[in-house]
Amino acid sequence: MLGLRSDQRGLFEADHIYLDYVGKGTFYGFLASQRGQLFRDEEFSALYCPDNGRDSVPPSLLATALLLQTHDRVSDDEAKARADFDIRWKVALGVAVDEKPFAKSTLQLFRSQLVLHEKVRSVFRRSLEFARQTGYVKGRRMKVALDTTYILGAGAVKDTYNLLADGIIQVVRALAELEGKRAEVWAREHGLKHYFGSSVKGEAEVDWDNEKSRRAFLQTIVADADRILELARQAQAECPPGDTRRDDIVKAAELLGQLLLQDVERKDDGAAIKEGVSRNRIVSVHDPEIRHGHKSSSKRFDGHKAAVGVDTDSQLITAVAVLPGNAPDNTGALELVNKSEENTGMEVEDTTGDTAYGDGGTRQEFADAGRTLIARVPKRPNKAYFPKEDFKIDLEAGTCTCPAGVVTHVKCRLKRPRDGGGGSEIPWGFIFDARVCGACPLRSRCVASKKGKGRTVSFHPQEALLQQARTFQQSEAFGEYQRRRQVAEHRLARLVQLGIRQARYFGRAKTLFQLLLAATVANLTLVATRMGMMKGRVNHLASSFLPFLLWRLAAALHSLVGRSISFFQPIPTESTNLDFCRGFSARSLGHLYIVGR
Ligand code: SF4
Repeated sequence: MLGLRSDQRGLFEADHIYLDYVGKGTFYGFLASQRGQLFRDEEFSALYCPDNGRDSVPPSLLATALLLQTHDRVSDDEAKARADFDIRWKVALGVAVDEKPFAKSTLQLFRSQLVLHEKVRSVFRRSLEFARQTGYVKGRRMKVALDTTYILGAGAVKDTYNLLADGIIQVVRALAELEGKRAEVWAREHGLKHYFGSSVKGEAEVDWDNEKSRRAFLQTIVADADRILELARQAQAECPPGDTRRDDIVKAAELLGQLLLQDVERKDDGAAIKEGVSRNRIVSVHDPEIRHGHKSSSKRFDGHKAAVGVDTDSQLITAVAVLPGNAPDNTGALELVNKSEENTGMEVEDTTGDTAYGDGGTRQEFADAGRTLIARVPKRPNKAYFPKEDFKIDLEAGTCTCPAGVVTHVKCRLKRPRDGGGGSEIPWGFIFDARVCGACPLRSRCVASKKGKGRTVSFHPQEALLQQARTFQQSEAFGEYQRRRQVAEHRLARLVQLGIRQARYFGRAKTLFQLLLAATVANLTLVATRMGMMKGRVNHLASSFLPFLLWRLAAALHSLVGRSISFFQPIPTESTNLDFCRGFSARSLGHLYIVGR
């Protein structure tokens, strides 16, 4: 049953006694004063049985603990320990000093409920409502910037041999569960014990420099995989539908089947590793949703992508999404904008993004939805010849004028898309007369094909929108949008600071949970700092910079008078008097220590 936090405050609750000690201007002090405004137990009532069971730990307390965990970037174990013993957490949670407010499993169960019921979205929305309640956001319209960054997946990424071995283990576990046996016992009975060692590759006697030896090893694994898939098929047929163990077998067998399909090629002389990388390749059995992605054309990562929408005036994160690691950055861009409106109750005036959002397809999508999208049109990679921008396309007249001033109205279907964007549709293009181009002095700078062919210029399905965008990006007004776009980059940097570079959990749903909590903390700390409820980074820097200035002053005096100044003696290492350290940041103490040396 839902446990409610009592309105009656205890005399020994930590925030009564230690709030000033911890500091009102800290995140802990902020939560101590505002947690009642942020979360109410009744808002989480859907997660609990209405009329049965013991009273739960108040969900408002657990929600506050999750914010603290995100802010401090600590594990569940550490979160539990801090709630029990850390005075800052006790102040933030409003519990007594000797109280142990929740068990680790309680926090984990609450998190699972939030993920399962997508309730964490309402926690995120509270941060936006809080911004309005405090008066930080006043208007009813906003400009949104979109951007993405990569998230490294939590699952171990393995090569084909170990990946297949992991897949086999998953099926063994599911089949062993059906027979009520331990997986290792079941594996031994079926001659698969060697998959339960530390590493199937490491323990195998294979000459890795010899291709035949490698291939023979792969064929053994593939034969085992085929055998266990057959066993899974038989077990599945015997198991009644609706049995959860049957579902587990099906899930594990499907995954193993997919691994075989993506990485193994069946040849006449046996199985071999497939050439190249399959599209949408699964790279981890423990986290099958992570994908190979690209940070840049040369740098790769394995994981997901975090996509954010940011109000560029208030800098609040208004919507977030987790995309597959191999998805284009502009995936779900329009949805992010719609979500931003839904979450804030504000109308989005226009949206800005980098070149990843500047393709014709995304522009068309926004135009169809009646929205404005400002993004730079992607440049064409081939710079050796006149780019398309050097040709003047008149859409109304249906003509194209080349740099030499020749006009053509002849159109043809191009063999392949040249612009990127526009999907798989084969575009139209303008073609110039081969004889005219052959006689043109600019031919070597214009036409890549051999003699006898004229220049072609692709005509994009969204040519009008792209032309409009190219014209706008030459104007001065575009500069403002470039600056606005940077706000999204800054907010992504803040999210990275809060730990979203590394996924804490397996799967995209839980990674979205992590991202939503990080966005909530980012929004709350922003609002609290701007509204004077928390000290900003500037204040922290000032507090740590002051001792540094004093040290410089003392050093100057020391060089003048030729003796040390007692105030700046080293901190005695045996000192346990914590009061000595109060009021000093770690950096300040570092300075004092340096002075002493
Ligand atoms: S090569 Fe053809 S298209 Fe290119 S500038 Fe000369 S005439 Fe124009």
